Amino acid sequence: MRSKHLTAVAAPLDAPCNKAAEGTATVLSAAVLDALPSPTVLLDPDGKVLLTNSAWEAAVETVDDDRIDGGAGIDYFTMARRACGPAVGRKIVDSLRALSRGQRASVAMDYSLEHPAGTHWYHLQASRVDQLGQVVVTHTDVTDRVQAERTSAWQARHDDLTDLPNRAALHELIDAELRRPDRPPITVLFLDVDGFKDVNDCLGHEVGDDLLRQLAARLAGRTRPEDTVGRLGGDEFVVLCRDCDTAGAEALAHRFRSIFDEPFDLRGRTARLSASIGVATARGGDPSGTRSTDLVRDADLAMYAAKRAGRSRIRVFSPDLRAAVQQKVLMADELREAIETGQLVLHYQPVLHLPTGQVDGVEALVRWQHPERGLLLPGDFIAVAEEYELIDPLTRWVFGAATRQAAEWAGLGLPLCVSVNVSAATLATGTLVHDVAAALAASALPADRLIVELTETTVAEDPQRAAAQFAALRTSGVEVAIDDFGSGFSSLGQLVNIPAGVLKIDRSLVAGAADRRSQSAAAIAAVVALAKACGMRALAEGVETVEQLALTAALGCTFAQGYYIARPMPADELRRWLQERAAIGNRGRRASPAARVSSTAR
Ligand code: C2E
Ligand code: MG
Ligand code: MG
Repeated sequence: MRSKHLTAVAAPLDAPCNKAAEGTATVLSAAVLDALPSPTVLLDPDGKVLLTNSAWEAAVETVDDDRIDGGAGIDYFTMARRACGPAVGRKIVDSLRALSRGQRASVAMDYSLEHPAGTHWYHLQASRVDQLGQVVVTHTDVTDRVQAERTSAWQARHDDLTDLPNRAALHELIDAELRRPDRPPITVLFLDVDGFKDVNDCLGHEVGDDLLRQLAARLAGRTRPEDTVGRLGGDEFVVLCRDCDTAGAEALAHRFRSIFDEPFDLRGRTARLSASIGVATARGGDPSGTRSTDLVRDADLAMYAAKRAGRSRIRVFSPDLRAAVQQKVLMADELREAIETGQLVLHYQPVLHLPTGQVDGVEALVRWQHPERGLLLPGDFIAVAEEYELIDPLTRWVFGAATRQAAEWAGLGLPLCVSVNVSAATLATGTLVHDVAAALAASALPADRLIVELTETTVAEDPQRAAAQFAALRTSGVEVAIDDFGSGFSSLGQLVNIPAGVLKIDRSLVAGAADRRSQSAAAIAAVVALAKACGMRALAEGVETVEQLALTAALGCTFAQGYYIARPMPADELRRWLQERAAIGNRGRRASPAARVSSTAR
């Protein structure tokens, strides 16, 4: 077949030359062309095909396309325009003409051809052969390479799990939108599933992934054609709402929230879920300094505020949210320094052993002696410590200071137990048992003088983890208390398997206990019974009146703590308080616990 073409189009490659040389050169050219693996043609300056190689002929034969007539003698330029369309065709022709005229050194470009089986990509490479302007053009099929490049470009901008645009793509899109001149307002919605961690933890990551895919499909179904929904990661989704002010965006947010009206099918389990949504808008007009990261961060802050306010809320960003975060960041920096430079102090609140009327323990409560703001209570800074990963160093400091103080008291003949409060975050990091052991070793305080307190809600969050760490602490001789019991919603049954020795009844229950017939008194009696059944002793917190003290004692509480007995105080004050109390006791006053403490309260 090739020889047919050769005879048909045999032409001089270099002029002038004699006939024998012509023949030799043509054969040589044909041989060189034939050695090339890619379909290749030799063209004259007008685009007429002079020579083709075997690969070209094979390709032409397999291509069932009447736009392509690959035979020698045909007009390559016409064929290119027909096969590739006018725009690409013109580009090919213009480039090859320029090459032929010596106006450029080479031509290299990719183009595509639509085949019935799909798009094929080719790399066209051409060079000028001689002074006459003949050019040789190779066409390499690069479909695999182009497809691989396209796949990886797609993957770089899309989320594996949901196929939605990913974080990088979303930021690019939002930035592009923000840079548009005279643009309308745009809004970002930041959506986070409430309690997603529970789904992952309880039902496993595969079910969690399933949920995210279902959610992505629902979100995409509710997204207007002009908007874009993407996934930032985890259970965080962002919707870019174009031409949308805050009011419009709130309406859209409600629309997205309603996708949770229908329950989700989590591999056979029906789950009702909700989401918190934050809304942030960039006003319309010329491009401002706002960047995508600013807008998404504002929407994120609004989402967090929505979440804090309860589930399934929508919150629009306002600058005070940013100010609050800036304040928290500042406070975290100061707190870090405070822990290192000794600005933290402990106050100790006495715990009364009701059957004997003796103070046999204290609760260590942390305070921050702030250089400008004065004495700060834990409510002012513990949450920041938890959020900014300062709770572990803070807790270690408290363990160190409290155990040293208790050891010092023991040396002075005051054998007091000391309780230390521990946050959920500390339980999660898993260093609790180690930190407690280190503090005991450093202070030489016997383990049975230390009590670790964890709130009921902390325990209920992850009872198994709590149980494991409680068991390890108790094995080492340290007592464990469940704090604020009655303030959360954990079921009594949840606590049965928790190895704790003391159950602290929240002051909200104690405050309501007016007399034995009150509901709170009944609740306290039930809690005391439960504590006893689980081998725990009950402690009444927040005892503020003599009546509450008497009632909690009568209801079977083993311990009491509260302002009526004494407020939290610094260590030296506590020593004086204990001495005064002992002096009064020695003078033989009063027999009942209520009477024993009343004269020393406050
Ligand atoms: P908590 O462990 O339940 O401590 C008892 C809190 O109630 C203390 O508040 C105490 O001052 C207060 N209180 C005691 N008796 C009464 C009373 O009769 N009436 C009233 N109204 N309040 C009373 P404080 O010191 O502000 O501590 C608040 C919470 O901060 C503590 O609650 C505890 O959960 C947490 N906390 C304190 N110190 C630490 C600590 O070192 N680490 C951690 N993670 N949390 C701590
Ligand atoms: Mg406590
Ligand atoms: Mg408490």
